[in-house]
This record gives sequence, structure tokens and C-alpha cells, in this order.
Amino acid sequence: MKKHNFYAGPSILPEFTKEKTAEAAVNFAGTGLSVMEVSHRSKEFVAVMDEAQALVKELLHVPDGYSVLFLQGGASTQFLMVPYNLMNKKAAYLNTGSWASKAIKEAKLFGEVVEVASSKDANFNYIPKGYEVPADAEYFHYTTNNTIYGTEILKEPEVAMPLVADMSSDIFSRPLDVSKYAVIYAGAQKNLGPSGATLVIVKDDALGKVERTIPTMLDYKIHADKGSMFNTPSTLAVFGCLQTLIWLKDQGGVEAIEKVNIEKASILYDELDRNKLFVPTVADPEDRSRMNVTFVMAPEYGEVEKEFLEFATARGMIGIKGHRSVGGFRASIYNAMPTDSVKALVETMQEFEKIR
Ligand code: PMP
Repeated sequence: MKKHNFYAGPSILPEFTKEKTAEAAVNFAGTGLSVMEVSHRSKEFVAVMDEAQALVKELLHVPDGYSVLFLQGGASTQFLMVPYNLMNKKAAYLNTGSWASKAIKEAKLFGEVVEVASSKDANFNYIPKGYEVPADAEYFHYTTNNTIYGTEILKEPEVAMPLVADMSSDIFSRPLDVSKYAVIYAGAQKNLGPSGATLVIVKDDALGKVERTIPTMLDYKIHADKGSMFNTPSTLAVFGCLQTLIWLKDQGGVEAIEKVNIEKASILYDELDRNKLFVPTVADPEDRSRMNVTFVMAPEYGEVEKEFLEFATARGMIGIKGHRSVGGFRASIYNAMPTDSVKALVETMQEFEKIR
């Protein structure tokens, strides 16, 4: 039976990425050695790192004056590296979920954090709007896509200071204006590659402005100056990321994949809005994520939740159980998810509706 992989992360990767990485795990770039056993300073691996950085720049139209880094420690380490490197006194944060809350918690170790708005009052099922950002905040941090709650901010907030964004779960799903950002970061394990690599895009002249001493491994400038080779990068993961970037370019880049993502998301939301058994957890269409579609059973069908999970799992729908803090279901439909798999989930919902 075909498996449709709806996991939230680590999550579905293109067949191309898996095949090329499997090949390189045995014979990398004709060396006769595994990509896991060659020096990160070998010319073959340096070429991988260089190409991966160049493709990130090309696909996201990164302007001059930015460095692309492949670090380790996940997006969670970025929660502290951002304020360590950028905050002198004050920064503003938007609280749209538990990842945003964790970023706020770390930032508080470094200075004054103004939480400009929060949607915690409704278990983060909407994006706050109409908030004010203090003019003296050094940067404004937000999470573009809230993986757990299924909300997404598609338009850059209009603020006077540089933006910093956690794009772990929607990077490369649509075009961006990178010039508005001081830092963009993302754990690789959703739209990019295997876990173990963390992508950071940092504006060079945003660095070197804080008064504190930054430990070497947490200093963006050190990693930027050394081309992400200050210490051993996660070589296998970076290789996997490069394959996805090559695949994405071949699909027509972020502009083309955005169209597919819009189509896939609307197929699923249309069904959720139609099917009497299910209710999307995000009511406002403007706030709905194109990457993580969250839904629950309608109140009168609450008792068949477990039954639907079993029914869907038996039809090859993998990883649709919602995050424990929201319950219900979550279908993660990242770039690599084929439209046919989204249609298969919709058919499963329709079949289940017929037998209820
Ligand atoms: N931010 C977001 C939006 C996420 O979805 C996740 C992980 N699911 C994280 C941060 C944490 O990432 P990591 O596990 O790479 O630290």
C-alpha cells in the first residue's frame, strides 16, 4: 500500500533527495567513499557546501551583503543566537505559538523583550493583528509558520526595524523579500533536508553591534567568515539539503512551488469547510497555513476521532495525529508532498463521511 507521509517534521522529502543521498552514502562524488567518511575540507565536500549556499541565494533572491550558513543545534539554538548577536537593550516579539514562546524565553536572558501581541488566549488559533511595535526595538521577531497550530503569516509585517524570522516550517514554500530581514533561520527537517542542519541567512552589517562578548560557536560572524566551516558541519545533512535545493530549482523555484502549495492547501481546506464531520481549527482563511493543515472532529462527531485515525491509517495516511497540545489532526503538506497525496486524504475523509 502506498504511504502518504503527513508528518510535521522530520517529514516528507523529494524522492530525488532520498535517492541521491542514498547513492552518496555509499559512493560520494566518485570518491568510492561515503559522504559520511570524507573530510569536510575535501574539495568534493567544499563543493557541496558552496553549491548549497549559492542555491539558497539564487532561489530566495538573497541580495548582496548576506551570508548563508548551515549550522547545527536546530532552530532552538537560533532562539538564543539571535538575541546573543543582535540585542543590546530591547527587542520586540510576536507570540503566535509555543515555538515563538520559546524564542521569547531565550531572548529574555539578554535584555528587555516586548511581547507586542499574543494569540495564547485562543490556543494560538489565529494571528494577532493591529499591534504596535516600540520604535526603539532593535529587531522584530516572528514565526512565519506555526507548525503546531496551523497558522501562517504570509505578508511581511510592516515595521520600522529589521525583521528576524523563524521560518522552520515554511521556508522555500514561497518567495520572500530577504532585504527586510536581519536574520532568517530554519531547522532543515521540513522543507529542506534531514534533521541536523540549520539554515541561517544573516545580514552581514547587522553583526558586530552588540556590546557583550559572544562565545565563538554562537557568533554568526565567526561562522560567516569561515564559510560555515569553522567546525565540522553536519556533512550528510548538508548534502541532503543540497539535493532538495537542486530539486526545487528544477521544479521552477519558490515561485512555481508556491502555486502548487496554494492548490494543495485549498484542496484540503475546501474539503474541511464542506465535510460535516470535520472543522478546521483556524477559522480565518487569511491565517491558515499552507504547510500544516490542522483540524478536529465537529463537536457532534467527537466520539469517532479515534475511529477516523484508524480508518485513515489503514489507508496509508501516516502522521496525521495532531500535536498533543491541540489534539485532533494535522496534515503537513510541505513542498515535497504530491498533490495526489492531498487528494488521497480528501477521498479518505469523504469515504469516512459516507459510513458515518
Ligand atoms: N520553530 C518552528 C516553527 C518549528 O516547527 C520547530 C520544530 N518543529 C522549531 C522551531 C524547533 O526546531 P528544532 O527542533 O530544529 O530546534
